[in-house]
Amino acid sequence: MAIQVLKPKFHVDECMAEVRECLEMGWTGMGFKTVQFEETWKKYTGHENAYFINSNTVGLHLAVKILKEKYGWEDGDEIISTPITFVSTNHAVLYENLHVTFADVDEYLCLDPDDVEKKINERTRAVIFVGYGGRVGQLERIIEVCKKHGLRLILDAAHMSGTRVNGVCPGTWDGIDVTVYSFQAVKNLPTGDSGMICFRDAEDDKVCRQLAWLGINKDTYARSNTGTYAWKYDVDNVGYKYNGNAIMAGIGLVQLKYLDEDNARRRQIVNMYNEAFKDNGRIQIIGAPYPDECSYHIYEIAVPDREALMDELHKHDINCGVHYRDNIEYKMYRYAEGTCPRARNLSEHIITLPLHMWLTDEDVAEIARLTNEFVK
Ligand SMILES: *Cc1c(COP(=O)(O)O)cnc(C)c1O
Repeated sequence: MAIQVLKPKFHVDECMAEVRECLEMGWTGMGFKTVQFEETWKKYTGHENAYFINSNTVGLHLAVKILKEKYGWEDGDEIISTPITFVSTNHAVLYENLHVTFADVDEYLCLDPDDVEKKINERTRAVIFVGYGGRVGQLERIIEVCKKHGLRLILDAAHMSGTRVNGVCPGTWDGIDVTVYSFQAVKNLPTGDSGMICFRDAEDDKVCRQLAWLGINKDTYARSNTGTYAWKYDVDNVGYKYNGNAIMAGIGLVQLKYLDEDNARRRQIVNMYNEAFKDNGRIQIIGAPYPDECSYHIYEIAVPDREALMDELHKHDINCGVHYRDNIEYKMYRYAEGTCPRARNLSEHIITLPLHMWLTDEDVAEIARLTNEFVK
């Protein structure tokens, strides 16, 4: 069997027990397990607010929309973001008729604070920071830049479940308005599709819950718990159907129990790769600050001929990936051509090697050996 680049490992029996409980209870929608998961997530991360949603993508949309309305941004106002990300990050800005201004990445493949500062102008309203591969990058400096220029800060923490800095989840740091996690099928905390949005301000969380539920000012769960089914709810605005459901939350609750253990194993694998590549002058290791607390959702190196290495590993039934292609290459972002040279260069050389719970030490050693043999 081929080795996949990303492959989730589920604690099947425990997940089935959670799902069974939902089915027997006759409650598979919002509420019940979703509330349990929100409470458990708040305890685990230290976030004061957490709302369970059906993906990180919709969470980013809600984040941009809610901050836009709260601070009175106008169409065409700008948000600074990274070109090295899954397109969700940047599409979320376009959904709200705002403009993505791209800033270049640093050696961690996260936003470079110096370039962010250079790209600020009078229409800049916010920054979206992606914790690439779980890395915190130079987020502390980005927070300073945002404070200095009065910008809002959104953290796309799709890769950051379980990342800490000196024991603290960076998403909870002062200066971040909202943090959005992903529990998509192949993320390091996998469900099927779901995510969590964590606002700093409790008022934003309240607005978010309503907006994610069609604009209805009371959710079904709250209503059915009042004893009489209050069918006569009000609809305050044209909201969305972005809420998460109990089945996904049940799976998330189980997987969360193993998240720290899983991330520790990820770091072990990363250390094996790093050790194997450290003396190979043609392989550039992408480092991480606080490597002992990084979730390491993905592992990548930069090599001279990425496509050739991919083909070679593929011959040995090892599948690799690219995270990510420079978003400026996609037609809706092409206007920014030439603005992020480092991102473009890395985008042409990075390769994502397999990193997941199914890999044995022997698998990792073999992938590293084949890679070193080919790239020399
Ligand atoms: C996966 C991912 C997303 C989108 O997450 P979904 O839960 O699949 O919507 C957003 N940003 C980054 C960096 C991602 O890797």
